[in-house]
Amino acid sequence: MDNTKKQTALSTLGEFGLIDRLTQQIRLQHESTVKGVGDDAAVLNFDKNHVVVTTDMLTEGIHFNLMYVPLKHLGYKAVVVNLSDVFAMNAQPRQITVSIAVSSKFSVEAIDELYEGIHLACEQYGVDLIGGDTTSSMTGLTISVTAIGEAPKEDLVYRSGAQPNDLICVSGDLGGAYMGLQLLERENAVFKVNPKEQPKLEGYDYILERQLKPEARGDIMQALKQLNVKPTSMIDISDGLSSELMHICKNSKVGCAVYEEKIPMDFQTKQFAEELSINPLVAALNGGEDYELLFTIPLSDHDKIKNDPDITVIGHITAEADGSQLITAAGSAIPLQAQGWNPIAKESE
Ligand code: ADP
Ligand code: MG
Repeated sequence: MDNTKKQTALSTLGEFGLIDRLTQQIRLQHESTVKGVGDDAAVLNFDKNHVVVTTDMLTEGIHFNLMYVPLKHLGYKAVVVNLSDVFAMNAQPRQITVSIAVSSKFSVEAIDELYEGIHLACEQYGVDLIGGDTTSSMTGLTISVTAIGEAPKEDLVYRSGAQPNDLICVSGDLGGAYMGLQLLERENAVFKVNPKEQPKLEGYDYILERQLKPEARGDIMQALKQLNVKPTSMIDISDGLSSELMHICKNSKVGCAVYEEKIPMDFQTKQFAEELSINPLVAALNGGEDYELLFTIPLSDHDKIKNDPDITVIGHITAEADGSQLITAAGSAIPLQAQGWNPIAKESE
């Protein structure tokens, strides 16, 4: 929080004053939004399309630490993580609702900052903020976002459609958000011991951005549409590649083989992992919060995607009986585990 600005107690506005302040700038963009904020419920009309709905709740101290997460970034991220789930269904996000529980330690200006991030994400991704709820909390901040999206029924992509021989693809690169979190945690620990010490964050802008300001990959969804590729299954990577692969395999009743050396990782991710003596593969497999898309496509579509620099083929789908395997650079097959594969534990066995 920026404590140099004027701080106004929330009690000066009251609940309705606060809601008015937070929602006054909303300009509705979508035809499907018949009524937004201001009545007992919002009214939506999706005509013939199917509707997807998804919710995520973030709690202070569990999902975020306000010692190093700016409120504007938190607001932006809270929206983005929900939009990522809508894109992972191959649907277009249209509306969100935002519910917050706040304690008296937050000022009006602090909540303004949170909503600056929320409004920015709405603008960036073209979604309407159509409502929410505002209540008080005894301790910290809780924020819950619900996203609503639409798609023609035949466009929707579930976790359950992967077939043996399909190619397994990921967008972007993995492990960055986890390494960004490790960096912020390290500098916060230093700060607690010595508040005068300046945090050492130079040279790590990419992994910090991956942690603090993630983006949802609607661009990948659009690119696939343009390439005329419909994934057979899709999921967004919120809990780490390993766990998401397991979800696809379980829901599709298939196995998978992914290749260690194919997993895309940024230079900074590897560099900071080396600094901390962590295997960067652990960050990619088990780290999470990358919000990239993991999807499968028919082998026959390989030519269509192979020149897209933002899509990497990391393996293929196998029969269920073959299990979920990570093929290491040395060529050995290691079963992926629900909590991911941990080579450090393996080595010390
Ligand atoms: P109700 O008493 O029907 O729950 P509220 O007074 O809580 O209504 O909310 C009034 C309007 O403001 C509703 O349209 C609601 O969706 C919206 N709203 C309330 N809190 C928020 C918030 N934190 N962000 C966005 N919209 C909100
Ligand atoms: Mg209410």
